[in-house]
Amino acid sequence: MLLTISTTHSPATDLGYLLHKNPDRTLTLTLPVGQGHVFYPEATPERCTVALLVEVDPVVLSRGRAGASGLPLEPYVNDRPYAASSFLSSAMREAFGTAMAGRSKERPELAAQALPFEVHLPALPSRGDVHLADRLFRPLGYQVTASTGLLDDTFPEWGPSPYLDLKLGGTVRLQDLLAHLYVLIPVLDDTKHYYVDEAEIDKLLRYGAGWLDTHPERELITRRFLKHRRALQRAAQAHFTEDDLEPKRPVVPSLNDQRLEAVKAALMASGAATVLDLGCGEGNLLARLLPERQFTRILGLDVSPRVLTRARENLRLDELPESYRNRLILTQGSLTYRDIRLRGFDAAALVEVIEHLDENRLWTLERVVFADARPGHVVVTTPNEEFNARWASLPAGDTRHADHRFEWTRVQFRNWAERVADEFGYGVNFQDIGEADEALGPPTQMAMFRREIP
Ligand code: SAH
Repeated sequence: MLLTISTTHSPATDLGYLLHKNPDRTLTLTLPVGQGHVFYPEATPERCTVALLVEVDPVVLSRGRAGASGLPLEPYVNDRPYAASSFLSSAMREAFGTAMAGRSKERPELAAQALPFEVHLPALPSRGDVHLADRLFRPLGYQVTASTGLLDDTFPEWGPSPYLDLKLGGTVRLQDLLAHLYVLIPVLDDTKHYYVDEAEIDKLLRYGAGWLDTHPERELITRRFLKHRRALQRAAQAHFTEDDLEPKRPVVPSLNDQRLEAVKAALMASGAATVLDLGCGEGNLLARLLPERQFTRILGLDVSPRVLTRARENLRLDELPESYRNRLILTQGSLTYRDIRLRGFDAAALVEVIEHLDENRLWTLERVVFADARPGHVVVTTPNEEFNARWASLPAGDTRHADHRFEWTRVQFRNWAERVADEFGYGVNFQDIGEADEALGPPTQMAMFRREIP
């Protein structure tokens, strides 16, 4: 994938000082997915062009990938090497980080000044809408020329190309230009190639500073940049200015978010380096554990192959850098059978899992987890049955999910946890999750077990 930026500011070769890159040299960067090259196809006093070429290694990208489209060659043969995407944005940060921060050692006054620039992105995906590039860049003051052609002139029957050839012209500060491209390229592509977490909000706010707030497509930009993750969008939204057209609602994390955050905090506080997520489901907890360097080995286990497939997709395991991927194992198994793979871990989480087993079979899980796997810490969450009275739509006596075999009151949970702790040589503490009702208690209850007898 290719990006070129040209200027006719005189002397144009000052572009080299602004980017901290000597126009006479080619620089090669090592990226998580391949290589980046920075070079100058032209460098005269009248006109200077810098090019950033990113070569994605399709084999690196394909590792562990089943082929999202179901086509067997899809992991190897796809548009990722050519189409501008978040890979290009990441490479921009590697290549032009200093300029993106607005600094220039040799030409600080030029860095602060709007200069005439032309940008060319010869292959930019614009999923579903050829006018989107225009709606994104024009409000920022650019002249936008976006053209689409045939996918391949030799084979007109293949139809039109889904890619734009985009040219932008404008007089802007280089720092702003780079920020606009950094945010809007992945927005046009509308896929992201690594897991998105809270760090993405920081990037959006940092590079969106000064323009995103008032951009007419702010909603769409935020939604797509944050990969359609609602919780992140809400959190980002809270940072925008108050004189907003929409009424503001306070940002209250969902019960699910609160639960996962509480479990993650408990695991981190335990000091564990190796963790089990037992009954990991679609990987919501795993997604929060992965970015934490404290956890060097994470094993997610679930009985259902279907949810494990969903977990793999949600985590975009196939596209994560190796340093992430190597720390995680996702595997199928049942908590009602002894499993030697679960031994030797520092901590385990059972988040909303125990209630999915028949109450009279729960003893099998107890033996597997507390007697055989025997991690140093075990965190268990389960609904508080008493709180169900507060769910307006829940007829008395019903559980929250059809698949819950039981739901316990606070006393029932406490009795169970204390008996288990006693029987298997653990100590146990309890914590409320979610906003507690004075009489009924919290919506979710959590027990934290700590092994006392090795
Ligand atoms: N912990 C996840 C999922 C909770 S739903 C979350 O908080 O999002 C309960 C999960 O337990 C389901 O994914 C289900 O497949 C799994 N499960 C049920 N019985 C199991 C068993 N015997 N062994 C392993 N996993 C089981």
